[in-house]
Amino acid sequence: MNSSSHPLLNADLHCHSVISDGTLTPEALAERAQRNGVELWALTDHDEVGGIARARQAARDLKLPFLSGVEVSVTFLRKTVHIVGLGFDDTHPLLVQGLANTRGGRAARAQEMAAGLAKVGIQGAYEGALQFVGNPDLISRTHFARFLVERGICQDTHEVFRRYLTEGKPGFVPHQWATLRDAVQWIHVAGGMAVIAHPGRYGFTANEEFALFTEFKALGGRGVEVVTGSHTTDEYVTYADMALEFGLLASRGSDFHSPDESHTELGTLPYLSGRLTPVWDALSNRIVH
Ligand code: AMP
Ligand code: MN
Ligand code: MN
Ligand code: MN
Repeated sequence: MNSSSHPLLNADLHCHSVISDGTLTPEALAERAQRNGVELWALTDHDEVGGIARARQAARDLKLPFLSGVEVSVTFLRKTVHIVGLGFDDTHPLLVQGLANTRGGRAARAQEMAAGLAKVGIQGAYEGALQFVGNPDLISRTHFARFLVERGICQDTHEVFRRYLTEGKPGFVPHQWATLRDAVQWIHVAGGMAVIAHPGRYGFTANEEFALFTEFKALGGRGVEVVTGSHTTDEYVTYADMALEFGLLASRGSDFHSPDESHTELGTLPYLSGRLTPVWDALSNRIVH
């Protein structure tokens, strides 16, 4: 095992299991990560740390260095932003309760989504989506997408999002998630590091993006995903520059969800640029070996 304080580390610090909207168990993900040469792994389910104990045990059995993780849904400037937490105590009551509250609105939102879809002739979407849910507490748009593909309404999940599940489309329901302040504070109080997930995906104007980074820094947030499955190669450069401009540590993660759907496989992204300081430099005492 090479030194973990190096940019050239095959770290994959963003992926999803059946505990949120992935299709693999934490154990299967751990095995897959190791098979793909991952040298440091984190599981980051949406708004939920219920898979962390299993992931940590699986990683330990495989001698795969591991960090606890989560991806918190946040509403910032009327858009949904994701904040990744890394290296926290996954049993901390404030974090656990905050995440439970964040998940709380999902069932009602899903009922409304189904009502919207019913209006355009797609019946039974709530029950249909539930068939794909691994954790009844965490029904997400991804589960609806899988149901619409199974029904033959769309070819793949990306088409479902484009036609049905994004702003202005019949199955889209605006939702109020956690505040940026709360999300960062839950992660901090549990001893972890907060990281802005895939900033290239939000469609913010330059001013809005500047506001996100500025407020995140002011709240004590420390990292930003630079190399992620959600970024283009141009965005690797854009957000490397942003990380340096804002004095943020850089993270790297595939955002892998499923062997059938994800375009980025675990552990296969390019390395971080040598001009960046990786998040794992500041997390060495949090890594479980
Ligand atoms: P939710 O938290 O219920 O709003 O669902 C968000 C999840 O939907 C994301 O974490 C992605 O996994 C997935 N998602 C969002 N946009 C797309 C898209 N355009 N194509 C495929 N999956 C998407
Ligand atoms: Mn997801
Ligand atoms: Mn995300
Ligand atoms: Mn994700």
